[in-house]
Amino acid sequence: MSETKDPYPRVEHINHILEHDRPAFSFEFSPPRTPAGAERLYQTIEELAPLGPSYVSVTYGAGGSTRELTHDVVLRMQRDLGLTVVAHLTCVGASRAEIGSILGKYYSSGIRNIMAIRGDPPLGETRFVPPRDGFAYAAELVAFIKREFPDIGIGVAGYPEGHIDTPNRLREIEHLKAKVDAGADYVCTQLFYDNRDYFDFCERCALVGVHVPILAGIMPITSRRTMHRMAELALGSRYPAGLLHRFMLAEDDERLERAGIEWATEQVRELVARDIRGVHFYTLNLSKATASIYRALGLARKRRAP
Ligand SMILES: Cc1cc2nc3c(=O)[nH]c(=O)nc-3n(C[C@H](O)[C@H](O)[C@H](O)COP(=O)(O)OP(=O)(O)OC[C@H]3O[C@@H](n4cnc5c(N)ncnc54)[C@H](O)[C@@H]3O)c2cc1C
Repeated sequence: MSETKDPYPRVEHINHILEHDRPAFSFEFSPPRTPAGAERLYQTIEELAPLGPSYVSVTYGAGGSTRELTHDVVLRMQRDLGLTVVAHLTCVGASRAEIGSILGKYYSSGIRNIMAIRGDPPLGETRFVPPRDGFAYAAELVAFIKREFPDIGIGVAGYPEGHIDTPNRLREIEHLKAKVDAGADYVCTQLFYDNRDYFDFCERCALVGVHVPILAGIMPITSRRTMHRMAELALGSRYPAGLLHRFMLAEDDERLERAGIEWATEQVRELVARDIRGVHFYTLNLSKATASIYRALGLARKRRAP
């Protein structure tokens, strides 16, 4: 009798990953827009893959602009590089039928984990307008995935510093709970620079009955430009005085970069010491910061057989 070869040897449901990798470490990448960007991305992946991440994730460009690119990168990472991939998917610019067809394509390519995201309004607009026959909130996308593809693992976004559209933080945490009640398996947080924000967020989640794993989103600040840009976008920009002080003391770009990486290293050291379920590195398609943190904390590990 001939043995059938598993066409997707590294396909693993996120629940299985989070059960076995404690803590889990994951790396986030974005689809490249240019040939030079593509070269940099695959170089970065080659440098980071030996660190043995539990999984990698690939973002979906703002406005759904990178739909095809996201798909290509996801498949290449999974098929050619043997990584377990979480594909991001947003509600922007797509009807339910279109979302269903994207999911179907992923499913038949062996993708079993999706980060279900609402997405942001297009540049220059302040309000998210749901597409015709589409979804208004990520919770609706989660429910759709759960109904149509019940064995797909689902991640959702959480915001330790709050989300800009919902200043009422009691409401906001209820909205997060709705995503989990709709079927999300885990939460991955927006980046933050004060671990107290993360721990407090986890406690607030527990108080409303959110008990799925909450992975901590980490992105070292490596330039003044990035720092200001993040502040402008109100993304993880509650910079603690201690971090700003270190930046003030940095006399040049190189020292500022080092200070940013050291700060993130201390964040990860504490998170791991306090036994959290996972750390998600926003790599910006660069390897240096993530690799430095790994080196400093001795995090590299062999990839587990799925
Ligand atoms: C881990 C992570 C990954 C991301 N990946 C991507 C990506 O790949 N591509 C991309 O374009 N963007 C991405 N984003 C950014 C994301 O698109 C934005 O943060 C977006 O503004 C919100 O998405 P969401 O999934 O959290 O939306 P939702 O959970 O739908 O929430 C959006 C806002 O609506 C509010 N809300 C929810 N439900 C209700 C309701 N029933 N009534 C009233 N208000 C409600 C929420 O409180 C929140 O303020 C990511 C963010 C994170 C943290």
